[in-house]
Amino acid sequence: MFVIGSCGLLGLLFGSFANVLVHRLPRGESIAFPGSHCPKCEHAIAWYDNIPVLSWMVLRGRCRHCAAPVAVRYPLLEAGLGLIWGLLAWHFSLKPELGMALVLSFLLWVLTWIDLETGLLPNALTFPGIALGLLYAVFFGDIYASLAGALAGYGVFWLVARVFLLLTGREGMGQGDFKLLAMLGAFLGWQALPFVIFLSSFVGAVIGSVYLLLTRNSMRAEIPFGPYLAVAGMIWLVWGEGLLFWFTELSRGLVR
Ligand SMILES: [Zn+2]
Repeated sequence: MFVIGSCGLLGLLFGSFANVLVHRLPRGESIAFPGSHCPKCEHAIAWYDNIPVLSWMVLRGRCRHCAAPVAVRYPLLEAGLGLIWGLLAWHFSLKPELGMALVLSFLLWVLTWIDLETGLLPNALTFPGIALGLLYAVFFGDIYASLAGALAGYGVFWLVARVFLLLTGREGMGQGDFKLLAMLGAFLGWQALPFVIFLSSFVGAVIGSVYLLLTRNSMRAEIPFGPYLAVAGMIWLVWGEGLLFWFTELSRGLVR
């Protein structure tokens, strides 16, 4: 209970930091300086106005100084990470996997929001992510599976994009997606890739079709792919062992 509670609270705090990354990374701003300030009136935000979720509710979503609205993304992103971290702590309890799960979910959470807002998946997150995934595997996991996952993750999407480009003359997928899949491969091992690719493409196709139906927009809508990869990666992180077992049993049954 104590572990779940503290991970939830830590998640709220790191959610605050995630907000800084989501706002500043795509704009190429420094993440350390200057301290938090209102983007409208530039007024510095005091610590008591910067308490995750609570401050936003107390100030009713407005800047204390100029009353400019503060996007609902801020408390949502903080509360979301608090919830994710609490659930992960409940699922993994105090094991090395929990540390890995917290780091990976933090990166995926930030990348998802940046991709939704800007269509970018910054190298400043995916490269350190790949390195951290490999580092974790050196100490607690299987470095060969992790290395193979990183290389295959990048390679598979690179190949798909090449073929797509040759066939259609269009860029179907962003470079950022290659690196995000490499990051997932580094954290989760190559065994996760078939599932992650299948699930993310499936969900992407379903949501893409619904979107096209609703908007009746015949133009190919640019729908970011990063969030689907992130969701598929999280599902594998939590239920991967069970899924792997289920797949092996299923394939054994098919062979028999
Ligand atoms: Zn202001």
